[in-house]
Amino acid sequence: MSGRPVPPRLRAMARTRTQNVTAAQWSPNGGTLGAPDLTLPGNQVFGANVFSVEVQRARLPKTVFRRLQAGLDAGQALDPEIADSVAVAMREWAMEQGATHYTHWFQPLTGSTAEKHDSFYGPTGDGDAIAEFSGKELIQGEPDASSFPTGGIRATFEARGYTAWDPTSPAFILENPNGALLCIPTAFASWTGEALDHKIPLLRSMDALSKSAVKALSILDPDTPVSRVFTTIGAEQEYFLIDEQYYFERPDLVTTGRTLYGAKPPKGHELDDHYFGSIPERVLAYMLEVEQELAKLGVPIKTRHNEVAPAQYEIAPVFENSNVGTDHQQLTMQILQNVARRYGLVCLLHEKPFAGVNGSGKHNNWSMSTDLGGNLLGPGDTPHDNLVFLFFCAAVIQAVNKHQALLRASIASPGQDHRLGANEAPPAIISIFLGSELERIFEAIESGTGEESTPQAYLGLGTSVLPRLPKDSGDRNRTSPFAFTGNKFEFRALGSSMSPSLPNTVLNTIVAEAIDELAGRLEGASGDELAAGVLDVVKTSYAANKQVVFGGDNYSEEWHDEAERRGLHNLRQTPDALPWLVAPSTVEVFEKYDVLSERELESRYEVFVEQYVTNLNIEAETMAEIGRTMLAPAAVNYLVQLGVAGDSAGVARIKDELASALDVFVERLEDMETANANHPEVEDVLDAAKYVQETVVPAMEALRAEGDKLERLVTDALWPLPKYSEVLFIK
Ligand code: ADP
Ligand code: MG
Repeated sequence: MSGRPVPPRLRAMARTRTQNVTAAQWSPNGGTLGAPDLTLPGNQVFGANVFSVEVQRARLPKTVFRRLQAGLDAGQALDPEIADSVAVAMREWAMEQGATHYTHWFQPLTGSTAEKHDSFYGPTGDGDAIAEFSGKELIQGEPDASSFPTGGIRATFEARGYTAWDPTSPAFILENPNGALLCIPTAFASWTGEALDHKIPLLRSMDALSKSAVKALSILDPDTPVSRVFTTIGAEQEYFLIDEQYYFERPDLVTTGRTLYGAKPPKGHELDDHYFGSIPERVLAYMLEVEQELAKLGVPIKTRHNEVAPAQYEIAPVFENSNVGTDHQQLTMQILQNVARRYGLVCLLHEKPFAGVNGSGKHNNWSMSTDLGGNLLGPGDTPHDNLVFLFFCAAVIQAVNKHQALLRASIASPGQDHRLGANEAPPAIISIFLGSELERIFEAIESGTGEESTPQAYLGLGTSVLPRLPKDSGDRNRTSPFAFTGNKFEFRALGSSMSPSLPNTVLNTIVAEAIDELAGRLEGASGDELAAGVLDVVKTSYAANKQVVFGGDNYSEEWHDEAERRGLHNLRQTPDALPWLVAPSTVEVFEKYDVLSERELESRYEVFVEQYVTNLNIEAETMAEIGRTMLAPAAVNYLVQLGVAGDSAGVARIKDELASALDVFVERLEDMETANANHPEVEDVLDAAKYVQETVVPAMEALRAEGDKLERLVTDALWPLPKYSEVLFIK
């Protein structure tokens, strides 16, 4: 609790009223308000806590700086000869910023980031300490891998793992009121070289896509010397903010990140008065500080606004390359949570903190940029640019169609099971929205008819059809899981709490495969022949894959039927989707591009299936405990009060209704406890997940329905949990 004193006049009020009044009277914890005015030029702190290229240029010996940059441009590992020199400069810079410790900051398969802090100081032997931090410590760390999930890899190999510096993602300083910490982004692998984290496969997939795209461009555009293609990501993050008092009064939120009970409030988002509404002052103050913290860390923030649900908001960055953008996304989630506490708030990143209220997602904007600054998914001004665009766009359509199920698996988690397919988030069916103009163009190319209105002069390629492309049609479809939005695709089905790494790793890898496949059919073509060849490749590929293109309402029942007729996958829940991480088509493409070996894929699959079972077990136990020790007793206490309230007809009716509701509740509670206590003995961890999905989850839902009935019957004064109508609306 925030320790806010209860004013004397409130002491006589019912407990819930007291809570609400104090929650509404927030005050910042620890003097956060009045932080520097960002409108003054001197206070613009962008990148102040980043070991950026500028800092490197200023602090490294010239030759070292040049060698470091040259290596980075070429995508090479750090030259050990210059490591010591880089380490010294980094340590001196960090200590000047107040850092006393450093950490290798990495992303194990837990889904969050990990850090182990080491002091810069080492003993000198004569009782003194000197600052030391060598190239070796910069490049490599040795955390104990046995405490991180490793799936099958743990079983057969020794527990040791190591972290290795990723020089392509800048080191940064995390500040705390009492000190500062140098964070060095690192990859995490086993001693046998297997990836144990989310960064390694992402980096490998970026390399794979770059190679394929550069090769394709050498055919499509031989005069432009592109040497590297970067995938880009801009992730729009949704989150809830609630008063911390309510948070700490709800054991379900504290333990599982979501409410396991809670009746739907009379006012939800029916009125649509929250979306894009003016931002409450406390929340705005919070957002400004979040952005200031992120600016110091070099994370560029572009937009902020209210989201659809009450108490829901969104923050979106300026896009960056997938590796840096993903690290920055993790930092954004961390900063959102840390700063909230300074305002007496808690930031909820769970996909579905409140049943019956819109959940939170993460829209993953994705594209491919060349090292010369071109966006391969941006329709251009010339017919030639548009040929390139159509080629890469066709590759994405082909990849998404072929690997729909894998893409679905890459975003699977228990939190997502409450969201995907509900009428608020994209369905579990993966389809692509192209926008009506672009879809018409692909259709025209496929049928060879062309756009009548297209001026002949624009064609001029010796080919029959090449229509002018829309620059940005403004044609939007909020229900599509994978939408073309002008110059990028937006993969909208990610969960709010997840790292964007895996879905982007999958996207990069499958698109690399499709690019190679399509480019293979162009080998040797040039000039006019090339244009005709590209259109032919686009035509054939589109015809074979357009089943995945859908421009209608993804929330509708008809789409579910239609998708089934088209043969699209509809993998509703996590245990249905995860097996695709190890399907033969997945293993084939991941091994072909050296992104993840079969063993590495299997270890991931096992970790995720286990996490599903573990998470749901924690939820089931928390739910049972709240039911037994909080909700049932509240109902019993109210029955006691009713018992001494006389025997008027009204009292008797209230009593009877509550007594029978309590009977049913207790029955469901026992059913659920029995279901969760009786996991069958299984060989395969997937069978355990299926049991949970088929037996425990429905029992939890049935119990919740009865708990929510009690909430509507028991006197407000005795109800032990803050209600949705309070948690979501008092700001
Ligand atoms: P929209 O209106 O389609 O949501 P915005 O311009 O607001 O478009 O951008 C949304 C997100 O997409 C932002 O985070 C932005 O940085 C990101 N974005 C824009 N262009 C690209 C790109 N080429 N690659 C990846 N992300 C991008
Ligand atoms: Mg968007």
